[in-house]
Amino acid sequence: MVDEIPLSEPDITDLEVAMVERVLRSKRLSIGPVNEQFEKTVAARTGRGHAVSCSSGTAGLHMLMLAMGIGPGDEVVTTPFSFIASSNCILYVGAKPVFVDICPKSLNMDPQRVEDAITPRTKAILAVETFGNPAFMPDYRAIAARHEIRMIEDSCEGLGGKYRGKPVGSFGHAGVFGFYPNKQITTGEGGMIVTDDDRIADLCRSYRNQGRGVMGGVTGSWLAHDRLGYNYRLSEIQAALGVAQMRRLDEIVEQRQRVARLYMEQLLDLPDIILPTVDHDTFMSWFVFVVRLSDRFSQDERDRIIEGLHRHDVGAAPYFPCIHLQPFYRELGFKEGMFPVAESVSRRTLALPFFNRLTEKNIEFVVQTLSLMMSREGLKRG
Ligand SMILES: *Cc1c(COP(=O)(O)O)cnc(C)c1O
Repeated sequence: MVDEIPLSEPDITDLEVAMVERVLRSKRLSIGPVNEQFEKTVAARTGRGHAVSCSSGTAGLHMLMLAMGIGPGDEVVTTPFSFIASSNCILYVGAKPVFVDICPKSLNMDPQRVEDAITPRTKAILAVETFGNPAFMPDYRAIAARHEIRMIEDSCEGLGGKYRGKPVGSFGHAGVFGFYPNKQITTGEGGMIVTDDDRIADLCRSYRNQGRGVMGGVTGSWLAHDRLGYNYRLSEIQAALGVAQMRRLDEIVEQRQRVARLYMEQLLDLPDIILPTVDHDTFMSWFVFVVRLSDRFSQDERDRIIEGLHRHDVGAAPYFPCIHLQPFYRELGFKEGMFPVAESVSRRTLALPFFNRLTEKNIEFVVQTLSLMMSREGLKRG
């Protein structure tokens, strides 16, 4: 079933089509100049010395774990309120995710709790710009510096955003972007590592390309494999899509800000809706538009409101269920009650349709339908 007003929709123009077509006709479909161009553009945009394209945001996170030498016996401090990939990458390398609770306003990790969670086994802080919000990124970096550990910035939801004028992706020792179709820009599937660290960049270039040796950005012999690598490459076709989308990034971010502003205006008067809070220091590029129901609403009521929206052909989703409560994380010993803020927030969050071409009329319809579904639940409750 496809909703009339979907939750998200990629924004592909003639420019993307033309650039992809040019690659297809060039006959060079992988490892080529368009990847280099895409990397250069993202590096410049984030003010980083290196950008390494890869097959997904998840692959990028995995390679950073490897490049930073994180493995069995190591701990990585991270958030339970995120898309699951930000924590799975820690499990991939046999390390232990140490979750800390979030700040209820920004929905990012509470810096004091990050500090308190660090032990002699902590190798890194893996911070996520939740829904694109870069709040506390400099604080996490300062904590990492104090303890002489790494900070990884999972920027998969934040391309184009800024905090105090500094671009998202520039706060950690390394950052990762993801280009799945619901992100600010898409390559269908794809990701990009950004860093100023030459060694990390070379290692990631090696890991993504079957472990072939890389020195100073230059790949050695095709048949010499220095380490256990992967095929985490991005194709030239995907990179072409990325180059076109990057060219349009400012326009895309403007559109997203317009849609967010319209939602804010129209939802302002709706009681029992908690709007996203954005710090005055923050320039948001808006990954999704997630509101929270007031605590008069239970999780079941929230879920029925989502079903009601779908019945009216309006996309909606409960972003995010807590990672630590997913079945295979429970098997690792995590359970309800461990991160009360994250759990309470995630019971009442609701993502509304959000994409560049959403019209004012669409937004009015979404808000009216949401309002109707909420009052119905209220009436049932009596
Ligand atoms: C989307 C996302 C990822 C993973 O990106 P993929 O490209 O889908 O692998 C990782 N972390 C966060 C927080 C994300 O939102």
